[in-house]
Amino acid sequence: SHQNSPPHIVIIPTPGMGHLIPLVEFAKRILHITPTLQLSFIIPTEGPPTRAQKTVLAGLPEDRASSTFLPPVNFDDLPSDTKIETKISLTFVRSLPAIRSHLKELHDSNINLVALVGDLFGTDAFEVAREFGMKPYIFFPSTAMCLSLFLHLPEFDAQVSCEFKDMQEPVLLPGCTPIHGKYLLDPVQDKKNDAYKWTLHHAKRYKLAEGIFVNSFEELEEGALKYLKNNEPGKPSVYPVGPLVQTGSTNDDKCESLNWLDEKPRGSVLFVSFGSGGTLSHNQIIELANGLEMSEQRFLWVLRSPNDKTLNATYFSVEGDRNNPLDFLPKGFLERTKERGLVIPTWAPQVQILSHMATGGFLTHCGWNSILESVVHGVPLIAWPLYAEQEMNAVMLNEGIKIALKPKANENGLIGRGEIAMVVKGLMEGEEGKKIRNRMNELKEAANRVVGENGSSTKALCEVVQKWMSH
Ligand code: UDP
Repeated sequence: SHQNSPPHIVIIPTPGMGHLIPLVEFAKRILHITPTLQLSFIIPTEGPPTRAQKTVLAGLPEDRASSTFLPPVNFDDLPSDTKIETKISLTFVRSLPAIRSHLKELHDSNINLVALVGDLFGTDAFEVAREFGMKPYIFFPSTAMCLSLFLHLPEFDAQVSCEFKDMQEPVLLPGCTPIHGKYLLDPVQDKKNDAYKWTLHHAKRYKLAEGIFVNSFEELEEGALKYLKNNEPGKPSVYPVGPLVQTGSTNDDKCESLNWLDEKPRGSVLFVSFGSGGTLSHNQIIELANGLEMSEQRFLWVLRSPNDKTLNATYFSVEGDRNNPLDFLPKGFLERTKERGLVIPTWAPQVQILSHMATGGFLTHCGWNSILESVVHGVPLIAWPLYAEQEMNAVMLNEGIKIALKPKANENGLIGRGEIAMVVKGLMEGEEGKKIRNRMNELKEAANRVVGENGSSTKALCEVVQKWMSH
């Protein structure tokens, strides 16, 4: 019977490279911890698989892990201004029948299904997991602070009648930097929007999980984790297992950007990227280009076509961009900066760039995977949050642990070229930059320690894997 076959874990990521990448890394770690465990990725989709997705999944060992893309769900009925958190949740819910029949197939072929790991928007799999005798877990691919907010959201929802941005007092999460309501994650900023209802729906269900893995570690978020690790009735067990960051490449060819970096002096290049989803307005691209030029620093910029309406236009697929992003740069910019700068319009090998000797700073949209990748490689930050929970992350990085500078927007909501030039210079050459670099190097050491053989994150992961093995 299936009791004699090896324990099998099912992992279901919700759409977004920022969810898939750390989950694949999570899978590699648990396979490494135990030689017999097997696992399957079941991937709900809203379009054809992208190259980036396929390359990341190709990093899994074939003999012990499989991956299946489910048929794309249909969104024709959704209004065009539907927020990503709603789309993510609906992708999952509309894929439930396909998830169920896939699980049934595994079950019927006598596979020993033990646990199901979903991510932050995957709580709708809990029931189907239990149906097949699997324990449901959440992998939270963001900060302990944001997880704490999710766990407190039902209570805040009941207590705060206005919008969070209109609260007089800062929001206090145990052990975290006090934060103004307007910086809380994007989908809680408009309580009438479906994105809020979905976020609250998931938040209310977190306590039903068998356990929650969070991609963070104590040295990075001491206060928040101290609270989360405290056992209290109604609070699920929280396991800090970070930093889980991409180890392989998400890019199949050795590309232009790495060759270009090879020619540059140590620590001299600012890497500029807004993640998989981030897009700027056309005016903001022009200010950023001019700011980089005025800073007189070297830069490597991953550019996407402007989108003046949404800040996350490429979230579902970078390949959907039909324009040439380079056409939106100021006239003559590429020619004037060709000695110092490189602009690439493609999916970048981000981890290889951050680990390159020539990279000395990272201007980032503050996606949590990007931050962790920077921490692991000791690269100091400029915080330029755009969407999701990135404003919260920026507050923590800038005011809390002080590993990022943060440029200020002007009265029109734009970050001006002068401000950009000043902050870039400050990070790459200034005193403040030096302090940040030192703190980053301390965190880099801690990050490497916690995922080492006796490190706290390895131990936390082992604890759960052991439970699974004795299932
Ligand atoms: N990424 C990459 N190349 C790109 C853009 C993004 O390799 O051109 C990777 C990046 O290294 C990170 C992930 O995609 O691992 C993005 O996750 P993050 O949480 O930083 O931001 P999100 O894209 O989810 O907003």
